[in-house]
Amino acid sequence: MTTRKSSHNFNAGPAALPPEVLQQVAAELENFDDTGMSIMEHSHRAEPYERVHHEAIATAKRLLGISDDYEVLLLQGGASHQFAMVPYNLLDADQRANYILTGAWSEKAKNEADILGDTYSGGSGKDQAYRRVPDFDTIDAAAEDAYIHVTSNNTIYGTAWQDFARMSEWEAPVVADMSSDIFSRTFPVENFDLIYAGAQKNIGPAGVTVVIISRALLERIKNVNPRVPAILRYDTHADKHSLYHTPPTFAVYMLKNTLHWIEENGGLSAMEARNRQKAQLLYDTIDNSAGFYRGHAHRDSRSDMNVTFTLPTETITNRFLDEAKDMGFSGLNGHRSVGGCRASLYNAVPYESVEALRDFMVSFQRKNQ
Ligand SMILES: *Cc1c(COP(=O)(O)O)cnc(C)c1O
Repeated sequence: MTTRKSSHNFNAGPAALPPEVLQQVAAELENFDDTGMSIMEHSHRAEPYERVHHEAIATAKRLLGISDDYEVLLLQGGASHQFAMVPYNLLDADQRANYILTGAWSEKAKNEADILGDTYSGGSGKDQAYRRVPDFDTIDAAAEDAYIHVTSNNTIYGTAWQDFARMSEWEAPVVADMSSDIFSRTFPVENFDLIYAGAQKNIGPAGVTVVIISRALLERIKNVNPRVPAILRYDTHADKHSLYHTPPTFAVYMLKNTLHWIEENGGLSAMEARNRQKAQLLYDTIDNSAGFYRGHAHRDSRSDMNVTFTLPTETITNRFLDEAKDMGFSGLNGHRSVGGCRASLYNAVPYESVEALRDFMVSFQRKNQ
């Protein structure tokens, strides 16, 4: 086996995985748990895989402190599939769904719902180039909304809801796309009725999507739309404990290992503290650069997961990205829709990588301003 050259991985997703998890996979790849075969070669109906499957769900529940009022589902299709599945299950013909727009992903989520029914936006940061998440007091929310949809962390623009405390004031069900910050910080699950997240940012490889849904909502959707195919219904998957059809077994195995790693490294409060420190290193560098580095996000909406910034001109930005690449920093290009630079600092990105990036930013400024 080749050892991997050390690199600083700032990819936005799929993203860095903990080396310990990769080493465990390598060690178990051909002979999982002394079964004489890899986890990928086991039936999803056989005991070795079933144990992995239920352990992944149990660990997710432990880490988030999820009560028995919720089901944790392991599905496929990524967050984009949830953009469609949510309105299929929750949007009645005589209702409107409320999408709080905080970036490109929330727009995409709303666009899917628009195909199936009526929606509106009770709040939007679009006219401020998505630099900030709307102030809670300005948001319109009605008890009659089919649901209120939020995106907790805006991966492309580098903004995030700073806390979710006041969402409990909303009377309609609250649905959250947490793809890029779930398991990166603590939060009150009970303020949400449905949470979904693709694994490939903080908790594993692409291929598995975690859905957390309240039992009350599951009861309600049984009566919504009888024309929704079984595969697209949350209750189908809940009734079968996410074994209605073949799950993405290898991705679930990786999810289990990555969640164990989080647990062994102090759980969500430890992740949150470390992620906050990492982000602070870069935000301080931006704030102390006398305008050389310009953060996209307004201070009150900064994300700890994705730090977005530009340099004085496009030429200098491109030089920065080229030199960074040569120095072994991967994934610093901003999303193709917004350009600039983005450093994604998910759980598995080591503090040392962020320090190295900070040092590079400081020395690049010295040479180029
Ligand atoms: C990455 C991401 C998505 C898209 O996820 P897919 O798995 O590619 O469908 C959606 N929402 C957010 C917030 C994301 O970060």
